[in-house]
Amino acid sequence: MPKTEPTSIAGQVAEARQCLAAAGIESAGLEARLLVGHLLCMDSASMIAHGDRALSVEQVAAIRHLVGLRAAGRPIAYLLGRREFWSLPLRVDERCLIPRPETELLVERALERLPDRPARAMDLGTGSGAIILALAVERPQLAAWGSDASAGALAVAADNAQRLGLTIHWFRGRWLDAVAPRPLFDIIVSNPPYVDPSDPHLEHGDLRFEPRAALVAGDGGLADLATIAGQSRARLYPGGWLLLEHGYDQSAAVRALLVQQGFLEVASHRDPAGHERVTEGRCPG
Ligand code: GLN
Repeated sequence: MPKTEPTSIAGQVAEARQCLAAAGIESAGLEARLLVGHLLCMDSASMIAHGDRALSVEQVAAIRHLVGLRAAGRPIAYLLGRREFWSLPLRVDERCLIPRPETELLVERALERLPDRPARAMDLGTGSGAIILALAVERPQLAAWGSDASAGALAVAADNAQRLGLTIHWFRGRWLDAVAPRPLFDIIVSNPPYVDPSDPHLEHGDLRFEPRAALVAGDGGLADLATIAGQSRARLYPGGWLLLEHGYDQSAAVRALLVQQGFLEVASHRDPAGHERVTEGRCPG
């Protein structure tokens, strides 16, 4: 076997893998291929086929810079500028939260609760748009709305909608404040900030690099969940549903919030890790 040149494609993948493994990154091999492939605009198969191709000084410098950012903890989703959610290729960057696999439970429950006729759905704090885009893809008849307090997040969401060829009505503002008292919705979904500001997880992993405003809420993480529960009741059609994602230990508190607001059939559902992650309730009428 000829020796692998350090500045060849294969050499750079190997160097990146070592650097990421030394930084304690679990899937160092996979991430090394993703980062080098991202910079060279090549997939894994062509990188293997052309492994001995020599790279320019600039290319090597760019790869080492990107790998260095990852080794320092920057999320792979931000470095690649993408994350898959509900099998949709979404663009993401530092202006929005990185969509999580457990949030697909919220999409599943919402699809279960959407009526079979054309309906109107609102996603509060839409971020990258992941939830409402997934619902719009599944239900082409859906009148889909999304709001966010962050102009940056809304720009990411609108870009994702455009790339996917989906029409969403976007609103900037906190929860339902931005939206006039009409129309009413058949379903309101939200994955709001729910992390307690003193939660040590905020100092680990991807969370360190995500917008704090998308993660943290007062009152032990319950403040925004409470606001949304309070605002939603009057904005749903009778029989409409509110579905909220929350922390693994917040389900009892969120059920209490919904019951307090007069919601019926209040129930929590478990994510694939076994945590009660989504709570839903039906508007009376
Ligand atoms: N599920 C996220 C986490 O704890 C938090 C997302 C949120 O606050 N909505 O990593």
